[in-house]
Amino acid sequence: MSNKLKLKFCGGAGSVTGANFLLHSEEIKILVDCGLEQGSKMAEVENWEAFPYNPSEVDYLLVTHAHTDHIGRIPKLIYDGFKGKILSTPATKDLSRVMLEDTAHILSESESGKQYHLDKIYSENVVHHIFSLWDTVEYHQNHDLGKGFNIFLKDAGHILGSSMYEITYNGKKILFTGDLGNSPSPLLADTEFVDSADYVVMESVYGNRNHEERSERKENLKNVILENHKKKGTLVVPIFSLERTQEFLYELNEMAEANEIPSMPIFVDSPLAIKVTDVFYKHKNLFKEAVRKDISSGDDIFKFKGLRETEKTKDSKAILAAPNPKIIMAGSGMSAGGRVMHHEKNYLTDSNATILITGFQTPGTPGRLLLEGAKEIMIFDEPVKVKAQIKMIKGYSGHRDADNLFDFVSHIKDVKKIFIAMGEPSVAMFFAQRLKDNLGLNAFVPEKFQEVELDF
Ligand SMILES: [Zn+2]
Repeated sequence: MSNKLKLKFCGGAGSVTGANFLLHSEEIKILVDCGLEQGSKMAEVENWEAFPYNPSEVDYLLVTHAHTDHIGRIPKLIYDGFKGKILSTPATKDLSRVMLEDTAHILSESESGKQYHLDKIYSENVVHHIFSLWDTVEYHQNHDLGKGFNIFLKDAGHILGSSMYEITYNGKKILFTGDLGNSPSPLLADTEFVDSADYVVMESVYGNRNHEERSERKENLKNVILENHKKKGTLVVPIFSLERTQEFLYELNEMAEANEIPSMPIFVDSPLAIKVTDVFYKHKNLFKEAVRKDISSGDDIFKFKGLRETEKTKDSKAILAAPNPKIIMAGSGMSAGGRVMHHEKNYLTDSNATILITGFQTPGTPGRLLLEGAKEIMIFDEPVKVKAQIKMIKGYSGHRDADNLFDFVSHIKDVKKIFIAMGEPSVAMFFAQRLKDNLGLNAFVPEKFQEVELDF
């Protein structure tokens, strides 16, 4: 017997962010992810428009991982009437709590916060209610959704707790990849492979390029630190609080213990990063084997001599008076908010300081302007001269690059159709063409709000 299921690309099609996919039939409605679109004025408006489905009719929300572009609209989903079950790994649930509380805080102070009544949508009550609907599923356990639907979670290796969803129905399988990791990661287990699937919905953020200097990234980081120490400067690192901070702490811990870098004050100046690191400690069973061995031999993998976590504002302000050489890691990762803006205001004018950029910078963000060689940037509406050295280390990315995305797909047998999503349109097209040309796959780039029929 053949059945039809419908798949609607409600977000995360034609763009990297805003993942939101609806798989549905007469009997059941399953959402995968409910993320914020980020990075443009238009996205800010679209995020708060009505969903292209009735949230009160949705039975399940499956969450792949705790990045805001995959979870940031869950409060709106609840506010608009969702009464179903939310499912994810335990680590994703714990990280989502920390991330959503932080997003609530940021949005409450933003322009769109006032315009779209985000204080109500993101109220404490709503965020609290989310977690009363949220159950957890471990990796590699079959979980019955009823009506003949079954889910199975695999480790995506992207951030702590990240998962792919295999949904089976009527003997057929659809795979939702979520974001796929840039394995091997310093901390996480490798992205798992999938043997077979009839349909695949996959990410394509780096579908047209490979990561450079991956193998040298730790060495490059060490050299920047040593150089800063030698000139007795301040090294400011704008950094993402989730995953990148913990990767850096782990690598700094290794360097410190091997005496590869001298002891100096290293500040983690981000309340969010400190909370996220606590969640990492709680789920240390998810780390790769080598890291688990370090832990069982008694090593505190995120702590070393010189490390200072500054949660309170007064401690953050006191960093300015701390003697050089020193390192300050602070959010946000693109210098578009957070405490790093205060540090950049203090240190961009200091020719003996270094700003170290470690990740992709969206066009238009202060981080991107610095990379492009701006002589002056605006911080808190005031022009600040750029005299500090601006450096970038490549190779630190949480996403699989083009060759590794291709390799992932080449392991999956019996694919009837593969949907290339979560990438810029030109990138997704490029990757789809590569899959057609080299693997002979029926690869398709959906547009936002497009709906397709699947044979099940
Ligand atoms: Zn992600």
